[in-house]
Amino acid sequence: MNNSNHTAGIKKILVANRGEIALRVMRSAREMGIKTVAIFSEADRNALHVKYADEAVCVGPPPSAASYLQIDKIIEVCKKLNVDAIHPGYGFLSENATFARRVTEADIIFIGPSPEAIEVMGSKLAAKEAVSKYDIPMVPGTPKAITDIEAAKVKAKEIGYPILIKASAGGGGKGMRVVENPADFEEQMNRAVSEAVSAFGDGAVFIEKYITSPKHIEIQVLGDTQGNVIHLFERECSIQRRHQKVIEEAPSAVVTPEIRQAMGEAAVNVAKACNYYGAGTVEFIADEHLNFYFLEMNTRLQVEHPVTEQITGIDLVKEQIKIAEGKALSLKQEDLSIQGHSIEVRVYAEDPKNNFLPDIGKLSTYKRPQGAGVRVDDGFEQGMDIPIYYDPMIAKLVTYGKDRAQAIERMIRAIEEYQIVGIETTLSFCRFVLQHEAFTSGKFDTNFVNKHFSPELLDQNNLSIQEQEEEATVAAAMVNFLLNCNYFIVYNYLIYKCLLLIFLAKGLKYPGLN
Ligand code: ADP
Repeated sequence: MNNSNHTAGIKKILVANRGEIALRVMRSAREMGIKTVAIFSEADRNALHVKYADEAVCVGPPPSAASYLQIDKIIEVCKKLNVDAIHPGYGFLSENATFARRVTEADIIFIGPSPEAIEVMGSKLAAKEAVSKYDIPMVPGTPKAITDIEAAKVKAKEIGYPILIKASAGGGGKGMRVVENPADFEEQMNRAVSEAVSAFGDGAVFIEKYITSPKHIEIQVLGDTQGNVIHLFERECSIQRRHQKVIEEAPSAVVTPEIRQAMGEAAVNVAKACNYYGAGTVEFIADEHLNFYFLEMNTRLQVEHPVTEQITGIDLVKEQIKIAEGKALSLKQEDLSIQGHSIEVRVYAEDPKNNFLPDIGKLSTYKRPQGAGVRVDDGFEQGMDIPIYYDPMIAKLVTYGKDRAQAIERMIRAIEEYQIVGIETTLSFCRFVLQHEAFTSGKFDTNFVNKHFSPELLDQNNLSIQEQEEEATVAAAMVNFLLNCNYFIVYNYLIYKCLLLIFLAKGLKYPGLN
């Protein structure tokens, strides 16, 4: 247990993160009467998470390696400010076993699982081995890192092409290569290894059958230090670009109660296989018949956790904090049920018309949507810059409805209300997806972007209300201008006619007339 030295509840939490997730964690802490400490880099001096926290400390220059990833500095701040727990958020140090260990050794509570669980699940191969004693379906593939390329080719042929070469230490879709035929095997393998070495410092790669029309479906789990584990149903995360999620929803439009139960039980077993406590996510890949296979476990809170919160009514951060305090789960599996439907779109500073390349700059206009069933988790305000140093996510826009149709309607309306000027974002792409028949019917997979999307489709029909308003303003100005011109001509013509009559009546010659 990571918190054996603490008998009392947590009184002060340092959030070792930035932006929207730091704010999101602090909000739950505040509701629980817990004080908060922010850390920040020099690039984030005016960030909202810094303003929100009870105390804030600068930990270094903008690059994350020099600030947000500085383990020694973070622990030093905790000691100085009498912090008794650290929440790592996601990204940065959240899945770093060394960090979790160092924090615990410094007699500070790590709000997350044990370093051992992080270690096992941090390696896709170690994770597969750990869960092998349970009856958990796995994607056909090699159980160990490839050392002999000829033997690997034989195995790939046996599995059947296309195959996927994956980095064991992989994350963020890096070190992954699809191989369509044996002739490309060696080249793709070498590329995957060098990508894995440069991204993770670990060149271990393995092979998996490439599921051609896959759905990414994951299960949220919660475990306590007493060994109880429950699951909070599934999230469908198949709308991806570059193997990375951009729209998520709960529940899935296609998962049946039977599959949900089977997946939930498999996820609970995966968590039990590494004595998991805290909040975690077990990821599965499912084929077109919804046969599902274990992919990996993420030993932290996920970006898409709000959709689970919306349909279960459970605040996952509060649960994480209570578990870290050593409390037993107050929830039982049979107490949980799905209420309604929730969708999240990730608002990234990326240009969907330009291959989703990150965009940076100032949010010259930034107005969040509001109204029934809308939740915005963000860390920016109008006039702020999107720093180049960090993840380009601006916000998580989440809607909730009594059913899927209402959650979609509200999301489209919310996207239309969202006003972001100064930076290209994924919002227009998300609106396109939400209106697409493949999405509304639920019949989509991780290939949605390749199959259905091209930048030209973000045309006039896909303008946001703000863009429509801008267009309407320009059109109105033009009409006014033309009318004014016309009035001017008619007005002048009438004056000319009147003058002509006066001149004629007086027997005078009108100037300019011969
Ligand atoms: P990472 O840890 O890099 O995010 P994952 O194993 O979680 O890698 O996979 C990320 C995504 O890659 C999945 O959501 C899915 O879209 C795709 N993927 C992973 N494994 C397979 C597979 N065997 N077949 C097809 N697609 C896969």
